[in-house]
Amino acid sequence: MRIVFLGPPGAGKGTQATMLTEQLGYQHLSTGDMIRDEMDRGTELGQFAKTFYDKGDLVPDGTVIDMIKFRLADAENVILDGFPRTVVQAASLDDELSKIGVSLDRVVFFRVDVEELIDRLEKRREIEGRVDDEPEAIRHRMNVYNRETAPVVDYYRDNDRVTEIDALGTIDNVRGRLIEAIE
Ligand code: AMP
Repeated sequence: MRIVFLGPPGAGKGTQATMLTEQLGYQHLSTGDMIRDEMDRGTELGQFAKTFYDKGDLVPDGTVIDMIKFRLADAENVILDGFPRTVVQAASLDDELSKIGVSLDRVVFFRVDVEELIDRLEKRREIEGRVDDEPEAIRHRMNVYNRETAPVVDYYRDNDRVTEIDALGTIDNVRGRLIEAIE
C-alpha cells in the first residue's frame, strides 16, 4: 500500500503516521523529518532548507523531490506524510510511481478547523520548541497551505482518489477513523 496523508499543519498527520507505520510495519516517509535531520546535521542541503523552513515557507520543489525520489522505488508499503505539498510535487510523484508501474492506493485528507489547529500548534511549540510553530510562522504556514497545498487536495479529488476523515477528537478516535479509511 502506498498512502499519502494530506492536511494542514497541525492536523495530526505526523502523529498518526508514526503510530500507524509502527503498527503495520510500513515505512514512514516525512519530508519535514528529512529536512529537520539535514538541518540538525548542518549539511549543505540543511543550511539551504533552513532559510525557507524557519520562516514557514516551503522548501523549493526541486530540492524536496530530489530528496524523496530515490526512496520511493523500494518503499512498497509506505505512508507519505507532508509530501506532496504542491501540485508540481504531486505530478512528479505520479510520474515517479508510474515509472515503476505502480500508483497510490489511498490519499487521506485530514479535515480540521483552523481554530483547533492554531491551538494544537501552540501546544506543540510548548513541548517541542519548533521555531516554525511561533505565532507569526504559524499564520504564514496556514497561508502557504491555502495557497500551495489546498490545490493538491483538488488535484487528487479530480481523479477521485481522496478519502476524507474528520481529524478532530482524541488521537485514538482519529486512529480508528483512519484505519477504516485505509482498509
Ligand atoms: P512538516 O514537518 O511536514 O510540518 O514540515 C515542516 C517544514 O518543512 C515546512 O514548513 C517546509 O518548510 C518544509 N517541508 C516539509 N515538507 C515539504 C514539502 N513537501 N515541500 C516543501 N517544503 C516542505
